[in-house]
Amino acid sequence: MSTEKLAIHGGPKTIVKPLKRYNSIGIEEVKAAMSVVESGVLSQFLGCWDPDFYGGPKVQEFERACEAYFGVKHAVTVNSWTSGLIAAVGAIGIEPGDEVIVPPWTMCASATAILHWNAIPVFADIEPETFNLDPKSVEDNITPFTRAIMAVDIFGHSCDIETLMEIAKRHKLKVITDSAQSPGVFCNGRMTGTFADVGGYSLNYHKHIHTGEGGILVTNDSYIYERLLLIRNHAEAVVAAKGVDNLANMIGYNFRLGEIESAIGIEQLRKLDGFIGGRQQAAQQLTNGFRELPGLRLPMVKPGCSHAYYIYPMILDIANLGVSRHKICSALESEGVVGLAKGYSNLHVLPMFQKKIAYGSNGFPWSSDICRREVSYAKGICPVAEDLHDSSFMAFEMCLHELNDEEAHLIVKAFKKVWSQISSL
Ligand SMILES: *Cc1c(COP(=O)(O)O)cnc(C)c1O
Repeated sequence: MSTEKLAIHGGPKTIVKPLKRYNSIGIEEVKAAMSVVESGVLSQFLGCWDPDFYGGPKVQEFERACEAYFGVKHAVTVNSWTSGLIAAVGAIGIEPGDEVIVPPWTMCASATAILHWNAIPVFADIEPETFNLDPKSVEDNITPFTRAIMAVDIFGHSCDIETLMEIAKRHKLKVITDSAQSPGVFCNGRMTGTFADVGGYSLNYHKHIHTGEGGILVTNDSYIYERLLLIRNHAEAVVAAKGVDNLANMIGYNFRLGEIESAIGIEQLRKLDGFIGGRQQAAQQLTNGFRELPGLRLPMVKPGCSHAYYIYPMILDIANLGVSRHKICSALESEGVVGLAKGYSNLHVLPMFQKKIAYGSNGFPWSSDICRREVSYAKGICPVAEDLHDSSFMAFEMCLHELNDEEAHLIVKAFKKVWSQISSL
């Protein structure tokens, strides 16, 4: 045990060199981007019914590569995963006022994508073990107006997708999975994102692989695939010539990914398994080092599942440690540990939901006739998520740092040092 004075009490810092920033981009991506620039074709989309409705060669090559990698019939690239989520909600045929169940522990776009179609997000609580949607809470929140579940594979680990699919089948609901943080992750032999009616991944710079900005939608449903393509690319201008009869949600956007990003994406996808392997190795080092620390619960990986550690989640046993999360994190930060998250997003407490102000200033859609009941976003609707956020959840944001062996070792050392003198905090 270290007897050195804690940095927060004026002792020496454990980590003095800044942690290396995660960078997944290499020479292969440089060459791929250059060759697109040299070709002069940076995009080849046309927003009308034409062979170029499907985009240029790199967009299509990237989509076929994604279909092979994720093991799905169809992949559709988009210019962000936020765009992908909006396209997904529209494509499954959500109507204004329909309710869609979503966890509060996710990035805000999982919920706002629902609002974009004037549908109503309903928050269900999370499981304290995986931080993903709790199927029991989902069932408790189903009403006659529920039409879909927006499941999220948070932090790099699958939600209980098989149970959620079974609930959805019983209640005739559609399912979308937001696997932004979990590409290439397995659950019982299948990849996250591929169980639902539609799923997908983010390609922003702090995700496992990236193209600057971008996203990938995946589905095995050919009808949903067609709707995704249309919403991505000016549906309203295409439907007549394409012979599309169902005009519901055929308001299109420009959600198209460029050729440069697609060319980079092809190279990134080839490296994804390697990146996940590196992340798992670093996480294993943390787990091995943290295991002996009392009052610290480490990430659980469900049998048959893998974890990609976008975030390395932990729970502090505050009652037994007798010290607040704030004090522990301050001590760790003083030792030079960066990328510590204290709590995670509880979306339902955002001003948008607390005040129910989204479109315009008069409470639309909640205040209008399309919203068929009073939906509550009051504090207390998701007690597990709220309690974890308020007092005991702590995480290391692995998405921002590569963590080589030496860095992982230093982080473990800093934790051990703080734990050895925790009663002095
Ligand atoms: C990153 C992320 C998104 C949004 O993806 P963008 O590509 O940044 O639009 C949505 N949901 C979750 C869970 C995310 O982590």
